Parts: sequence; C-alpha cells; structure tokens
Amino acid sequence: MENDSIVLYPSQGRGHLFVTIELGNRLLAQYPSFSIHIIISTAPSQVPVSATELSAAVTGPSISFHHLPPTSLSKTYTPQQAPDLSYDLAELSNPKLHESLLKISETSVVKALIIDFFNTSAFQVSSQLEIPTYFFFTSGAGALAVFLYFPTIHEHARKSLKDLDGYQIEVPGLPPVPSIAMPVAMLDRTTEVYHCFMKTALQFTKCDGIILNSFELLEKRMIDSILNRDCTPGMKTPPLYCIGPVITNGDSVPPRRHECLTWLDSQPSRSVVFLCFGSTGVFSSKQLNEIAVALETSNVRFLWVVRKPPQSDQDPTLKSFLPHGFVSRTNDRGVIVDNWAPQVEVLSHDSVGAFVTHCGWNSILEAVRAGVPMLAWPLYAEQKLNRVFLVEEMKVALWVAESDKDGLVSASELEKRLTELLDSEKGREVRKRVEIMRDGAIAAMREGESSTVALKKLILSLKQEHRRELCCDSK
Ligand code: UDP
Repeated sequence: MENDSIVLYPSQGRGHLFVTIELGNRLLAQYPSFSIHIIISTAPSQVPVSATELSAAVTGPSISFHHLPPTSLSKTYTPQQAPDLSYDLAELSNPKLHESLLKISETSVVKALIIDFFNTSAFQVSSQLEIPTYFFFTSGAGALAVFLYFPTIHEHARKSLKDLDGYQIEVPGLPPVPSIAMPVAMLDRTTEVYHCFMKTALQFTKCDGIILNSFELLEKRMIDSILNRDCTPGMKTPPLYCIGPVITNGDSVPPRRHECLTWLDSQPSRSVVFLCFGSTGVFSSKQLNEIAVALETSNVRFLWVVRKPPQSDQDPTLKSFLPHGFVSRTNDRGVIVDNWAPQVEVLSHDSVGAFVTHCGWNSILEAVRAGVPMLAWPLYAEQKLNRVFLVEEMKVALWVAESDKDGLVSASELEKRLTELLDSEKGREVRKRVEIMRDGAIAAMREGESSTVALKKLILSLKQEHRRELCCDSK
C-alpha cells in the first residue's frame, strides 16, 4: 500500500533549512505514519550542507532529502539582495521541483507541500499537480501580521515607504512600526522584489494553512489580530497553526563538545554575555572595534562569536581586527569564538545571563526557550521589525540604538545597554518577563497545551486533504 508523504520545501540558507528539518521531526513524532521528504535547493554561491550535518539533524528514520540540481543564476547578488536571490532561485527551480514531486508520487501519496515564504513560486507547480499547499512561516506572528497587511500598507502609503520619513505604520494588533523598520525589500515600490513580497502576501491568503513557529503566550495580541482577520481586510485568512517554538537540537556535529562550553562551565551562574549575530552576520572592522571597547570598559564576562569583516580574506587572523592587546587584556573573563558557536547549547548553559542578538527569529526563540534576556541589535531581513516587537510588545529585550544611518552602534551605547540589562530595575523586569515566556514555551509543548493541540490539528488537516490525482503528462 502506498504511504502518505509530506513534502517540505525550505528556502536556501541554513536558518530556513534546519528549522524545517525540525518541523519534519515534529510531524513525525506526532504522526509516525507519514514519510517526510525535504527538498533542498542551494544557491550557486553557497556551500552545500553536508550529509553528516543533515542526518545529525534528523531524529526519525522516515525523513529523506532530495537535492535539486544546481541552477545557474543569470546575475550576481549583493548580501543585501538575499531576498531577490531566494525568489529567483525558487522560480528557476520550478521545473526540477516538478520532477521531484512526480518522482516522490511514484511511491507515495503526496498529501501536502509545505513551503517557505520565499518559495511562493512553487504554487505554480503545486496547483498544476493539485497538491494542497501550506506555508511554513519561519519568523514570528508580528512579522506575519505585517506581511499579511502589506497590500493594505501599499494602498494607504501611496508612495514608497523609503520616501516617507518618520511615517508610522499602523497594523492592527501591533505597536506602531516606523517605516524604516520594514525589511529593505519592502521599502521601494519600484523594485521587482517589492512586488514579489506583495505577490507572496496575497498568496498567503490563498494557501491551505499557515504554520507559524511561535506560541500563543509570546505573541497573543498579534496572533489574535491575524485570527480575527484584521490583517487581511476583505480577504480570506487560511487556518493558522501556532506550533512553536520549533528549535533545533543544537549542533550535534562534530560530536566533541565545543571548548567554549567547557569555558562556560567554569564561569559563575548567569554571569556571561553571549554575543552572536546569526548564520551570516558580519561587521566592519570599525564596528568590531566599538564592540571590543564596550566589552572591555563594561568589565563584563563575555563569549563573543566573531567573523572577519567582508572582503578581508588576505588578513590572516581575527585578532588583527580587534584593538591591540584586547584579547590578552580580557582573557581572564572573555572568550572569542571564530565564526560559529553551538548557540542552542550556549544559551541553555547556566552561566549565560544575557544575549546580544541580531534578532533572527530562530535566535529569539532559542533565547526565549532558555530564558535569556536580550539586547536587540538587528542587521538584515525582518530583524528590525522583530526588534520593535521584542522590545515594545513581548518585552523580553532592550533596544540597542544605532548612532548613524550606516547602522553603527557606538561603544558607549553598547556599554550602557549591557549595564542596563545586567544591573538595573528595567533589566530585571526584562529577565522576569523572559522567564515567564520560557515557562510558557515549555508549557505550550505539553500534551493538551496550545502548540501540541495546534500540531495535532495540522496533522488532521494534512491527513484529510484529499489527494488530487497527479497528472504525469502535465509537465
Ligand atoms: N547559529 C549557531 N551558531 C552561530 C550562529 C548561528 O548555532 O554561531 C544558529 C542559531 O542557533 C540559529 C541559526 O543559526 O538556529 C540562525 O538563525 P536565525 O533565524 O537566528 O538567523 P539567520 O542566520 O537566519 O539570520
């Protein structure tokens, strides 16, 4: 007898891939009869994720990976054009996606395709093949509310948001959002990527369901606003499944425990500030210098994940980007990790007391789940939106302010915020609040509680979708 398959199709990039694998793990843990297929597309400029890493992220036997053959892109993209790249890659990958889905359907019934935000163009394939299609939204309810409301924002603003200095966007259920907090791709209505976002927003209202990596307590007002259809006036809102927090189990590869964890073992409880800026966050050498000065003058214990500034391949060591003597002056209370630390394990370590984050959604959830208060310092994508919600709504972080239009954060600003978070009434309030959210996150995943109930409802929906016959000659 044919089994039921669910196909997951994350966008390019580690942040999207690993959380999607974890979604597959969750679906299987709840309903082991599914076969989960994960389709991976890799941008030509990207280092493919190794098979060892992929299999380490999988907790059950019924997950298989399908790598789409490399696609050549006709242009080059700057790091700021990551959304353009993701959209273009997805569009060009459609013929291969089509083939993959047909192949999977030879041995199983494809019950649903679950796609990432940037893979909207996959709808062309899934509707042709008549496969029910869900979005897995890998950011929070606040960002989702903004995206759903985007067509209305477009109508109200009448001009590109970049040209509306000081404009505050009012989205139902959200604190006011300054237009400059919007993702860069949504600022200029003359660009192609702006219209891709618009198309995606409209497509959200037509899908079979939206799976959200969040939980009710964390974003109650925003979730209610989406459920009440306040963000999609005049349109349909598909079922919303808040099944989070979906968090990866951490870096299981290599098996050896990372030495920064051993260092943390020797530090006092909640004493260490962890600074880490996502899978791709990089700073100029000027900015690295400001951070180093703040860490030195504030006298805090720290664990800092540092990458060399862009275009610095010829420079041999990280140290050359830091103030002279910084490492030796701080090595009794600070550790620098080159490029990558096992973040989930670090945040869960008892010695970590604060997290300076770029506000990527996975990082936020990992900190919330570990009960670690944050300093919010966004860099790219929807992270400036996330900062607004973290500080104004969830109240689990303090705001780090940029001092110029290039986004530089001064040493004195960072030092002030570190002191505020670690040693002030306001900081203690933030810690209390994040601990409440941590407990809420743990509770939401229990049997009978909100995220588990939502996951069960999702599975019911995935199971019940009637398969529409796959038509093999519809290529
Ligand atoms: N991460 C990590 N070690 C690092 C940097 C990042 O383990 O040194 C992980 C982090 O735990 C998170 C993911 O990479 O799961 C980053 O995802 P996020 O959504 O926070 O940011 P993105 O990289 O997508 O901007």
